[in-house]
Amino acid sequence: MKQLCVIGDPVLHSKSPLIQNTMIRALGLDYEYLCQPVKREELPAWLERVRAEGWAGFNATMPHKEALVPLMDELDEDAKLYGAVNTVCNIDGKLYGYNTDGGGFARALAGAGIPIQGTKFVLLGAGGAAKAVILKLVQQGARQVVICNRTVEKAAALAAHAPDIMSTTGFSVEELAKAAAGCDVLINCTNLGMAGSPEFESPAFLDALPAGAPVCDLIYHPLETALLKRAKELGHPAMNGLPLLIHQAILALEHFTNTKIDAAAMLPLVEAALAQSL
Ligand code: NAP
Repeated sequence: MKQLCVIGDPVLHSKSPLIQNTMIRALGLDYEYLCQPVKREELPAWLERVRAEGWAGFNATMPHKEALVPLMDELDEDAKLYGAVNTVCNIDGKLYGYNTDGGGFARALAGAGIPIQGTKFVLLGAGGAAKAVILKLVQQGARQVVICNRTVEKAAALAAHAPDIMSTTGFSVEELAKAAAGCDVLINCTNLGMAGSPEFESPAFLDALPAGAPVCDLIYHPLETALLKRAKELGHPAMNGLPLLIHQAILALEHFTNTKIDAAAMLPLVEAALAQSL
């Protein structure tokens, strides 16, 4: 049986073993997926172990994603774009680094029937998740991206990646409403509304959204945030963070096994497994 795992510090909370083992079982693959705590300073020794013990591959989370970049034998285009690796395949001792964050997000949008090319997006937030989303939106031809963030300097730093299509604004209800009024799709990339985090001061800015504009929330715990609940009440299509979480895992398993996976068949199985664990 071939071995896969997720490494990180901390990592024991990771949903990757549950997601990957659900898919591995459903597909009848001869793999097992484990959880492997690896501290920052242990990364070089871990890579030696991967080669020596013949691990098929691994996923990486904090604090390793950037540190893996110079340690790979080959990098895919998205790993170069993001300057970060979250999936590593070991083929005969050669390590191939991939990044599935942006690709997973693009697939999640496609699955919800939301095009990127030519679309005007409003993004709430300018942290790590927002960066992953923004680079993919720009790469795939978004027409406009307005970044709304509490700390405007962080939004400005992200907007500098493509100043011709990106602009920034603050996070007051008025500023959010003004941005929402001019967009096709609104995406929440902040942790507002996540279990254990504060809520939006007011969801009233959603009233300004054009009719039928989809609202996406990267949060999946809870499955329906107050933002998504309000969006649905106003008649907007709503997508939570599960499709992103699952699609990036499907992409990783495709790299590990070098096969194409039927995402439509996997999504309900993994969603059901996750729903029991949240
Ligand atoms: P992060 O880097 O810490 O960024 C957090 C963002 O939220 C920043 O823009 C921050 O604004 C904003 N924020 C936090 N508290 C706020 C408040 N009280 N008022 C206004 N803005 C506030 O976090 P992240 O890694 O980007 O993650 C963001 C969310 O995405 C989390 O809920 C995470 O669970 C979710 N996520 C989901 C997936 C998935 O697979 N579905 C993947 C990654 C992340 P400042 O810049 O002003 O601090």
